[in-house]
Amino acid sequence: MKKEKNDLMEKIVSLAKRRGFVYLSSEIYGGFASIYDYGPYGVELANNIKDFWWKEMVQLREDIVGLDSAIFMNPRIWEASGHVAGFSDPLTECKNCHARFRMDHLLEEIKVQADEKMTEDEINKIFKENIEKIACPSCGKKDFAEGRKFNLLVKSNLGNITDNPSENPAYLRGETCQGIYVNFKNVLDSVRVKIPFGIAQIGKAFRNEITARQFIFRTREFEQMEMQYFLDPEDEMKEYEKLKKARWDYYLKLGLNEKNLKWHKHEKLVFYAKAAYDIEYRFPFGFGELEGVHARGDYDLSQHAKFSGKDLSYTEPKTGKKFIPHIIESSVGVGRTVLAVLTEAYMEEKIDGGERVVMKFPKNLAPIKIAVFPLLRNKPELVKYAQEIFNDLKEDFMCEFDDNGNIGKRYRRQDEIGTPYCVTVDFDTLEEDTATIRDRDTMEQKRIKITDLKRFFVNNL
Ligand code: ATP
Repeated sequence: MKKEKNDLMEKIVSLAKRRGFVYLSSEIYGGFASIYDYGPYGVELANNIKDFWWKEMVQLREDIVGLDSAIFMNPRIWEASGHVAGFSDPLTECKNCHARFRMDHLLEEIKVQADEKMTEDEINKIFKENIEKIACPSCGKKDFAEGRKFNLLVKSNLGNITDNPSENPAYLRGETCQGIYVNFKNVLDSVRVKIPFGIAQIGKAFRNEITARQFIFRTREFEQMEMQYFLDPEDEMKEYEKLKKARWDYYLKLGLNEKNLKWHKHEKLVFYAKAAYDIEYRFPFGFGELEGVHARGDYDLSQHAKFSGKDLSYTEPKTGKKFIPHIIESSVGVGRTVLAVLTEAYMEEKIDGGERVVMKFPKNLAPIKIAVFPLLRNKPELVKYAQEIFNDLKEDFMCEFDDNGNIGKRYRRQDEIGTPYCVTVDFDTLEEDTATIRDRDTMEQKRIKITDLKRFFVNNL
């Protein structure tokens, strides 16, 4: 059960493509940098992750409600949020090969602390002090251009008759939470919530990321799962600790191993933040941010109150106490979670006569729950019987029917997509109405009565 860490990433990327989890976008046109598509099994996996998040965040929480706000919003929102002026990464270019890099990432590689929130002057100063040590990751030359801040918001020409996105641009949202902040009052006035309460949302976000690398870890179009919790300023830090614990427990429940998770504390906070921690996961390339859990003070609602001219304060119904709600948030990417789940699940095992690759997804996340096979494809009685079982099970579970190739190959294929159970219809089935169930993890097979099949899966999936 070994994982060769150094080439694990390559193996995951290759399996993801070969087995229909993740494809490079526009591949037949040579791809499109830092954009990916989810294939038939990838979309099932991502949907299962989103369902799990939604259940934990909304269904099981009486104090959190859902929302689906639009990708396009009034451009003033991005001024209020600070994104137009300050949502930027420090960019430099190799003068030799013209590859572009984030300066904070280049500094990180030589173990010099810097971050994307530094001003242009601050980061250029540190960069120049270390310039002798920084080689271009693409061509190896040490010759970089002066750095500049590069805004990450993606512009569009929506509603703009000049066709020029630089004039009055409507942005594609850079994060989903702004749609939550600007709907705070709508939710408060239309459904029965009282502070403290949260609003949760899953949706696409877009960022003009400079460095296109690390597969689906950092993409220019991605999906976020965010929850913003509105509260009385006095309760902010107490609730923040509760949220941190809930989010840690969530990842254990999702099936990530605790030894692959750690907290990262932000030492340098933006001026309004009360506290900021990230949950990091041990990806094949090392620990990286999976989720941010932040205490944001009253910044978001104050800014939107100021820019919109609307009163976004809250009055306690019982005490009459009036305040601008503070916000604590949980924000995680779907793609990063998919990559963490793929990393955690990937196993190579020695078995009789060779080796197998098996994706040991938790059953609730597995894209296909049950595969149904007739032992032989050229025996119509077996095929018909297997099809009947498949038609019955598919009403309740995501199933797949496969009569292609020898049975060993079919098992290997299902192992690689992480299907927990395979049901095989053979000649004994016709005689005695039983079939074999093969368990993905133990590879054990047992015979079971057809009439007990559904109950077995209801109990075990
Ligand atoms: P990073 O420092 O890695 O660029 P960030 O701190 O800018 O990330 P946030 O703005 O806090 O990220 O976004 C919250 C979450 O959204 C991240 O924890 C991550 O899971 C996800 N996310 C952010 N940017 C991307 C991206 N370009 N591709 C995929 N997921 C992303």
